[in-house]
Amino acid sequence: MNNRMKRISNNIYQISLGWVNVFVIEDNGLTLIDTGPKGSAGKIFSAIENGGKSPYDIKRIILTHAHPDHAGSAEEIKRMLRVPVMAHREDAKIMRYGIACRKEICLTPGLKNWLIYELAIKRSGINIEPVSIDEQLNDHDLLPLLGGIRIIHTPGHTRGHISLLAENEEVLIAGDLLSNTTGLGLCIIYENMAEGISSILKVTDLDFDKMVFGHGRPILKDAGSIMRQTFDNYDYALV
Ligand SMILES: [Zn+2]
Ligand SMILES: [Zn+2]
Repeated sequence: MNNRMKRISNNIYQISLGWVNVFVIEDNGLTLIDTGPKGSAGKIFSAIENGGKSPYDIKRIILTHAHPDHAGSAEEIKRMLRVPVMAHREDAKIMRYGIACRKEICLTPGLKNWLIYELAIKRSGINIEPVSIDEQLNDHDLLPLLGGIRIIHTPGHTRGHISLLAENEEVLIAGDLLSNTTGLGLCIIYENMAEGISSILKVTDLDFDKMVFGHGRPILKDAGSIMRQTFDNYDYALV
């Protein structure tokens, strides 16, 4: 497969690995956001090369959460490039033992969700190659990239899930806070559904124009208002 980087904003790119997306931020070298499932390093590197950049310019890895489709290649890439990995402390705690999923799982209602869970998620297993987190990220931290990237702790999908807001580029990297596979909506699984919904509502208060997801297509305009409209009128009785 000829992987490519899709430009989201001036300095943010998306790489689709099929079912899951990872992201590259260009400023002070490259920053890789999420790493895909186990064995994704080659695909990510070739996409970066196809985009005219060098994967050896990756200077740091940020993980939105511990799940195997996001953290599955973190240790492999860290070992290849000798770069630090950053994540929230709650998910750092389990990743260092190679645990990618906690046992508590709420499945979002709906036949499609059940099918994907049974056919894809359950089979991807709950373990990853153990990865030690070099720097722990907390709510409100401001990373010195692109003039400031805000860390937003958005627990629910996992306890240590984070989203990232690139304030100057008005891009929200949502991770699995929600998804946009068949329209903007909840992810398939949450450790704590109520907490996941309050994290979504927390993010609706922020200003951004574009939004990218671990799963599904990016929203490249008016993402903040689309999100507010969707979740102000959401039928929470269904979940
Ligand atoms: Zn996830
Ligand atoms: Zn995911």
